[in-house]
Amino acid sequence: MSGDSVEPLVTAVQPLGTGTIIGLEIHCQLNTRSKLFCGCSTDYRDDPPNTHVCPICLGLPGALPRVNRAVIEYALRVAKALHCEVPLESEFARKNYFYPDLNKAFQITQYDRPLAVRGTLLIEGDNGEKEVGITRVHVEEDPGRLVHKGGTDRPKYSLVDYNRAGIPLIEIVTDPDLRSPKEARRFLHKIRATLEYLGVFDSEKEGSLRVDANVSIQGGERVEVKNITSYKGVEKALTFEVTRQRGVIRRGQRVTRETRHFVEARGVTTSSRSKEEEQDYRYFPEPDLRPMRVRDWSDAIVLPELPDARRTRFITQYGCSPEHARTLTGELRIAEFFEQVADPGAPATATWVADTLIGELNYREMSVSSVPSSYFRELMQALSKGEVTDHCAVEVLRSLLDQLHAKGTCESPLACVARLGLGKAGEEIAATVAAEVICENERAVADYHSGKNEAFNFLIGQVMRKTKGRADPAALNRALKEALDMRGE
Ligand SMILES: [Zn+2]
Repeated sequence: MSGDSVEPLVTAVQPLGTGTIIGLEIHCQLNTRSKLFCGCSTDYRDDPPNTHVCPICLGLPGALPRVNRAVIEYALRVAKALHCEVPLESEFARKNYFYPDLNKAFQITQYDRPLAVRGTLLIEGDNGEKEVGITRVHVEEDPGRLVHKGGTDRPKYSLVDYNRAGIPLIEIVTDPDLRSPKEARRFLHKIRATLEYLGVFDSEKEGSLRVDANVSIQGGERVEVKNITSYKGVEKALTFEVTRQRGVIRRGQRVTRETRHFVEARGVTTSSRSKEEEQDYRYFPEPDLRPMRVRDWSDAIVLPELPDARRTRFITQYGCSPEHARTLTGELRIAEFFEQVADPGAPATATWVADTLIGELNYREMSVSSVPSSYFRELMQALSKGEVTDHCAVEVLRSLLDQLHAKGTCESPLACVARLGLGKAGEEIAATVAAEVICENERAVADYHSGKNEAFNFLIGQVMRKTKGRADPAALNRALKEALDMRGE
């Protein structure tokens, strides 16, 4: 790595959006049951290395690939959802290069005759809704995976696992239409939602998404940033890169055309020495596979409801605000969860899911799929019946999520309400007892108000004695404090 590879982060003099041009290349693993060119299972993540392999995906001599129809069906769904044109004929190509994770020394991909071209995707841009052009959509195989022992910086040795070799990938290339790192993130979220609604992609699987980005500042050279592997990473990597390029220009230097790698742990991009040019790959049509004619097939595909349509429906069917509808439909799991818990008798549910639940989940880095919808519905019903206050419902929700986070299961909301004494009935008992104790112990109350903390302990002891331990200490504590403070005012 050369000395100038990490540029210091300088303060941007202009907003990051100004004059920034970004295009993305997105690779997503399609969640078919078997691999692209063989019958090996794609469900490899929890299994030992090299157990999902066969002569085809190991590239043994004489083994011939056969195209998995489901992969093409999935890819055509994506192409259609992105309003792409499907050419009459497309074909696979060989991309030749050597790397230990690529056992055949070539990758079967698509080159000059991709499956689909010229599409669009509507996103929430920096200045309202905008259409982002899709240059192309094509299908290719994933290489294997290298496991570096002893750290990625200076590994002692590396092992190769071919379980991933031949997993179907879809590559989506955008036009250079994105104008800020934030727009790039929004685009990626929209792509993720669209692919999940189509039932072709599972974003929760580790390593199922990889992004390369082309970034330039108006008038400058284009820099390719590789190795972005998370949704959060996209905005971080691009913000760093745009700021770096602005710094270069501000110092009167030129941005050079290069490939850089995003180092997620440090949040920086570093110059990469690999300088392969397109001609180095010596692409040629894959001789073992015939060209595909799939336009009729594509025309016959009927798409499911997509995020934009569902957003409109949530507004009309559930009375959601446009902002809530956008949040609730931005991820398939959240949209489905909301439809399971939405209740015409509890209109506040949209706010609870979109604002409270998602916030609490993000805080704990949890997915909505770990929350039992029946429990959430029970909590919303208790709330709409007035059995718990808003404040107490948040307490219950937090307690349930903490339990789910720690052990994957939780008690029912009503059990939680009872245990924590958060029900309105429990609060009322606590308040009555606290008032009684205050009347019967005037000296201790006076001591408390003159600042003696031991007086509070004495009073809480009296409250406990009266309730014989059946009420929740926290609720009693709260009730006593409130009653005392009211007297003190
Ligand atoms: Zn195989």
